[in-house]
Amino acid sequence: MYCSTRGSNDILSAAEAIKRGIAADGGLFVPTVLPKIDDKWLAKLVNLDYKERAFEVLGLFLTDYSEEELKNCIVAAYTTEKFDDAAIAPVAAIDHNTFVLELWHGPTSAFKDMALQILPHLMSKALSKTQEEAEIVILTATSGDTGKAALEGFANVDQIKIIVFYPEEGVSPIQRLQMVTQQGGNVSVVAVRGNFDDTQTGVKNIFNDPSFNENLAAKGFQLSSANSINWGRLAPQIVYYFSAYADLLAKGHLQLGEAVNFVVPTGNFGNLLAGYYAKTMGLPIRKLICASNSNNVLTEFLDQGIYNKLRTFHKTLSPSMDILISSNLERLLYHITNADTVQIKNWMEELNRNGQYCVDERYLESIKDIFWADWVDDVKTLEKITEVFKKYQYVADPHTAVAWQVGERYRQQTGDMTLQVIVSTASPFKFNESVLDAIRDSKNSDINDEFSMLYELSQVSCWSIPPALAALEKAPVCHNIVCDKEEMSLVINDILEKNKG
Ligand SMILES: *Cc1c(COP(=O)(O)O)cnc(C)c1O
Repeated sequence: MYCSTRGSNDILSAAEAIKRGIAADGGLFVPTVLPKIDDKWLAKLVNLDYKERAFEVLGLFLTDYSEEELKNCIVAAYTTEKFDDAAIAPVAAIDHNTFVLELWHGPTSAFKDMALQILPHLMSKALSKTQEEAEIVILTATSGDTGKAALEGFANVDQIKIIVFYPEEGVSPIQRLQMVTQQGGNVSVVAVRGNFDDTQTGVKNIFNDPSFNENLAAKGFQLSSANSINWGRLAPQIVYYFSAYADLLAKGHLQLGEAVNFVVPTGNFGNLLAGYYAKTMGLPIRKLICASNSNNVLTEFLDQGIYNKLRTFHKTLSPSMDILISSNLERLLYHITNADTVQIKNWMEELNRNGQYCVDERYLESIKDIFWADWVDDVKTLEKITEVFKKYQYVADPHTAVAWQVGERYRQQTGDMTLQVIVSTASPFKFNESVLDAIRDSKNSDINDEFSMLYELSQVSCWSIPPALAALEKAPVCHNIVCDKEEMSLVINDILEKNKG
């Protein structure tokens, strides 16, 4: 069962928690009891494939889903039509004790797919299990990556429609193409004249407009979001920590029970928190290493116990980690404080009111037992991409390079040479310009249109272009609505009117 981090008395099933996304008191849903596993259970995973491992892990959390329901969701999500590697989340060997867990083999070439491919199926099942009659309309404002991953996941899922708004001038040409070529009878993509803030504010206003929402309800629609705080996005991320460990066992790099460290490029703290759940359940993890870019709010928190969002926002080469408020951290606070929901409410109020809060020494100690944190700037990020390419012929995207750099510093500063798994969150082709800057001969640097850069990167690296990105060049455009930010609600009404039934 699931409860809120802020202490309201609602105790809900997983399906109900996934349907609602966020608790009524503003808190996040957390499991009331964390399942525990032992070595025997872990050994069993070795001979299973990714889908079977997902079934074992998710089955411990989504206990109200029948075996068949869960299997159907998993089979629909992790297919080889959507993922370009049959292992789904393969582990690449770098040297005898350094490995890379590649989470970017899904349809949008970034790690969001690991959760957003299955969340729509879990949500669709949740609707039928809770006898929800309304049709759910997922609204998303995107600066690029999340929007496309959500579109891919929700396309053609029963009882759900999805509308994605993106700033006309705020996404890269590839990101725009990824969205406007999206197929699916229930998907709409709309460009907004303005920047990302205008677009996001527009969507927030729509969520908070009671008369608009009542109007929709009368027509049988209910708005929802595919936000990264939904439990249905977090639970699937626990799976790949177990899967990586099982792969390392299978290949003889580890003995059963031997500890590993994971280094995770972190933004909203979802990915790293999933690692925390895996560790708490009994997966032998010594340290979870948190890697940040110049937006180093989490480095300071995990190191000093002070969360301070009052700092300059930096636009970096690893944009998916450009975040000052890591929402999922609230779940960690819940577990670290042993469910002290009054304390959590106070901290969250302080964060709202004063822009910061500070946790006591005893909590900081238990945090530091589990986590280690550091950050790197863009210069160091590019240097790492160059270095690992030269040394290992491995092509790391900027997010992965941040983690790699931090993982190395951890080893230098602590002397802990435990087997390290670097969690890789994006394909280098998704950030082809930065990666090319780091690895190509400068004499070719006049090649800078998006598709030429894809080919160029493929040539320089000898890696093949992810099929979905290559296919964009010839994919037909099927969305061309453009609107002013004041017109967004009208556009929604129009879309829902046209797609009735
Ligand atoms: C979303 C994202 C991250 C950050 O993950 P969190 O779960 O928000 O910490 C890191 N890298 C990439 C490429 C992402 O898309």
